Parts: sequence; C-alpha cells; structure tokens
Amino acid sequence: MRTVTGSSDHVVVVGAGLAGLSTAVHLAGRGRRVTVVEREATPGGRMGRLDLDGYRIDTGPTVLTMPELLDEVFDAVGERTGDRLSLFPVDPAYHAVYADGRSLDVHRDPEAMEQAVADFAGAEQALGYRRLRDWLGRLYAAEFDRFIASNFESPLSMLTPALARLTALGGFRRWDAKVADFISDPDLRRVFTFQSLYAGVAPDRALAAYAVIAHMDTMSGVYFPRGGMRAVPDALAAAAVAAGVQFRYQSTVTGLVRSGGRVTAVQTDQDDRIDCDAVVLTTELHRTYDLLGHRPRRPGGVRSAPSAVVLHLACDRQADLPHHSLLFGSEWESSFREIIDEGRVMSDPSLLLTRSTAGDPTLAPPGRDLLFLLAPAPNLQRGQIDWPKRQGAYAEQILDIAQRRIGSRWPELEVLRVVTPADWADQDMRDGSPFALAHTFAQTGPFRPANMIRGLDNVVLAGGSTVPGVGIPPVLISGRLAADRVTGRTGVRRRSASTIHPSS
Ligand SMILES: Cc1cc2nc3c(=O)[nH]c(=O)nc-3n(C[C@H](O)[C@H](O)[C@H](O)COP(=O)(O)OP(=O)(O)OC[C@H]3O[C@@H](n4cnc5c(N)ncnc54)[C@H](O)[C@@H]3O)c2cc1C
Repeated sequence: MRTVTGSSDHVVVVGAGLAGLSTAVHLAGRGRRVTVVEREATPGGRMGRLDLDGYRIDTGPTVLTMPELLDEVFDAVGERTGDRLSLFPVDPAYHAVYADGRSLDVHRDPEAMEQAVADFAGAEQALGYRRLRDWLGRLYAAEFDRFIASNFESPLSMLTPALARLTALGGFRRWDAKVADFISDPDLRRVFTFQSLYAGVAPDRALAAYAVIAHMDTMSGVYFPRGGMRAVPDALAAAAVAAGVQFRYQSTVTGLVRSGGRVTAVQTDQDDRIDCDAVVLTTELHRTYDLLGHRPRRPGGVRSAPSAVVLHLACDRQADLPHHSLLFGSEWESSFREIIDEGRVMSDPSLLLTRSTAGDPTLAPPGRDLLFLLAPAPNLQRGQIDWPKRQGAYAEQILDIAQRRIGSRWPELEVLRVVTPADWADQDMRDGSPFALAHTFAQTGPFRPANMIRGLDNVVLAGGSTVPGVGIPPVLISGRLAADRVTGRTGVRRRSASTIHPSS
C-alpha cells in the first residue's frame, strides 16, 4: 500500500467534519501529533447544528447508521462510544407512506419486518423479503472489508477472488433489477432501493453493489444520538482533544507551502503558517485541487450528485409522527430522471420527513416539535433554477404534498428555514450539491478520485469526495483510510455496537 514518505510526526488535518475528526482521532491513537484547522467555530461540517428560537436544528444528516464505525474511531484512542454519546435505535427505521394511502413500517428485526411485508404485500413477498435479506447479508460480507473499508492502488489491484464473489452475487447488475429478483411488488421494492439516491444515482442505474446501503439502514438499523446529530462530531472532537489533538477553529486554510512533491506548511487566513510533515485535506474536491494547484485529466469531468431542498419546520404542539417518514409519490423512475437528467424539480415528489424531537424532545422548546423535510432536487450543474425566486413557492408545494400524504395527523407548522441548492453553493459545495460526487460506475471504487495523488508525497485526501464515498459511514471510514496512508495499516478492531441503548 502506498503511504506518505519521510517523517509524518506532525500531521495537519484540514476540516473538522466527520472525515477530519475520524482522521485526527485515528492518527492521535497512533502516536502522531495532530493539528486540525477548521474554518467554522465548531466541529461537524455538514453534520451541523443551527440554534434558532430555542430549536436545535440538525442541518445535515438525519439518518445515522453503522454506529460500530464510531466505536472503531473511539476505540483508536482507547475510548468507548457510550462514554461520550447516547445513541438509541430508531424503530421503525422508516415509516413509508404511499400516494394511495397505504403505509409500511420498516423494521430491522427480521420477524417483525417479515410480518410487516406479509401484511403489506402478501406471503409470497414476505418470502422474497427473507431471500433479499439473505442476499444483502452476503453482499455486505463480500464487499465491506475488501471494497469499502480498504485502500486500493488501481483497478487492477481489485482483480481478486473477492471481485469474482461480488460479481457472482450480482454486484455489477443494476440495483433495482437485482432486488426485483426477490421482490416483484414495485411499491415494496422502493424501501430497499430508494437509498440509491444517497449514492446520487437512480435505482435502475445504480450498481447493485450499492444495495449494501439498504443493508446498513433496513437491516443493521437506524440510530439517533441524544442532543441531536451534532452530538456525534462534538463527541469525536472531545475524544480528539483528550488524546492531545489541537484544534484551530475559525481558521480557513488559504494556501499550502510546497517544496517539490511535499507540503511543508499550511497557511491560514489568520496569517498563521503551520509547519507539518504531512497534510490530510477533507475539503471539497474543487477546493482541494485549487489548494494543490492540481488539475486532473478526467474525460467528461466529474459528475456531482443531485442536491436537495430542506425545510426546517416548527410545530406548536407535539406531532403524532414517527422519527423518519418516507413520503412516496405515485411517480418513481420519472422522478429520478427529472432531477438527475433533466435538471427539473420532481413533478410528483417523494420526500423524507424527519421528526428529530421523536428521538430527543429537548431539541425543541417544551411541548413543541421540530421537523425536517427533504426533497431531492437537481444540482446546479443540471438545473439552472432561480432558487432565490422559486424557493417560497416550492416550499409551499412540498408542504402541501407532505400534508396530503400524512393526512389528519399533519400539524400546524411554521417554516423556520428553507435551504436550497443555491444555499449549498454559497457554502462552497460544488454544483450546489451537499452530497459531493455521484456514485456512478466511473466514480466508484478505484475510479473515484483517489486519496493519494501521484507526484505528491505527503498529501492525503479524506471525506465525501474521495474513497469510499458520501455519507456518515463512508466518511468515517475515509478518515481511517487516510490515517492508514499516513502510518501504514495497523490492526483495527471492529466491535459490535455494544454501547447502544436498547430503546429510546
Ligand atoms: C442535508 C444533508 C443531509 C444528509 N443526510 C445524510 C444522512 O441522512 N445520512 C448520512 O449518512 N449522510 C447524510 N448526509 C451526508 C453526510 O452528512 C456527509 O457525507 C458527511 O457529513 C461529509 O463529511 P466530510 O467530513 O466529508 O465533509 P464536511 O462535513 O463538509 O467537512 C469538511 C470540513 O472542512 C471545513 N473546511 C472546508 N474548507 C476549509 C478550509 N479551506 N479551511 C479550513 N476548513 C475548511 C468545512 O468547514 C467542514 O467543517 C447529508 C448531508 C446533508 C448536507
């Protein structure tokens, strides 16, 4: 495995998002001196928090999966997740609501889910679900350690028996078609394929290998931290500090001092020059390349993932709603075409509605509730939508649809904040997408921008723009992969999520 050359005693990590925090903790655990430079005043990056009128709003991710990866990070400095974080399972993981009024609770428990599927679509589909579950388990086992949680040097290095196993499992077929081998009911299939949007690709085009995401949420389960999602980076940053990591907040890295193929220092807008032996960049890909003065030749350029419009909503009473609701429209394939290919908003949207106060009521003032409504939307590369002009009308449209799906349980709401692709772009996210690069075949595994760049001896990348990809589990892994590039691979113990509280 390629690693940085020369001394790596002092590592500067740029960015205190999950990738930067994971990198910093792993490196500290391996005896490196680490300085994290972050432009904001707090850790978390996209996993952020907005404090508004007594509401503590999760601004980014709401679906937390694979907490054992957090265990792995804390373990790197001899800590346990449960000492810093209270995590609770969310059950059902999702409450799916269809346009015709039917609904389905998605449980991680196999028997409970089999029963829910039988009630929703009949005994034959329940049998299919059992087979799907078995396949997802085998896919995950074939893929995780070898293809997701490993550094690789080139496409050729992947030509191993593990690749043959993944191929035999159908990993290179299309996600929707593969799931259809088990489940013929198209409505039921949606709860095991909608996750392709997390990867930025439509279910009928995404590689079946990405169905491991459906393993992560529908089988391994969804979790929520007391205090809201920002509790996770807060806890990681606290563990990093305890392990000796230095943080410089409100410092933007503006330049890298180079000597040949080495970066010898980073410069910040605070007129600081921080000398380093190695640097890990978790910045957006285009910023990373700007800092490095690097222009990779990629035929066709890189393709950004679709974006999202998010509404933060306050409710003057407690709403009778589960933690996560998937509100499906009647249209499905055409919705993906609209946002991914045609650059239009969905004409019949499917939405994610999250009630974070179901997991922790203290995130809203007493007796009130906080909701998060997410509508997938075209990125600015595809759709030239005048968001500042359009956002009010679009917010009303998706609120109206959510109300129709939820029916009489829909509460009176006040819109606290609307976030559109234009706002993500203002935060320097490429093409106004908060989900970095789409996981197309050409941007997967060894074809994704790698975490080391030819000609640079002590620079490593981490975060959603590089391997393995976007989302909480991949970026936590990317931090460990980056640490491996600095120190060489050391033994990693993955524990089961023993620190999870049994119920909320
Ligand atoms: C609305 C939304 C919903 C999402 N939903 C989910 C979900 O439900 N489940 C899931 O798993 N994932 C979800 N994601 C994706 C997930 O949040 C991200 O993939 C992940 O948090 C990215 O982490 P990162 O460390 O790679 O990047 P970031 O969090 O962006 O961290 C990069 C950090 O670098 C800092 N920085 C950038 N440039 C500089 C500079 N020049 N100098 C100093 N600091 C700099 C930034 O301020 C930032 O803190 C969601 C994201 C969003 C935005």
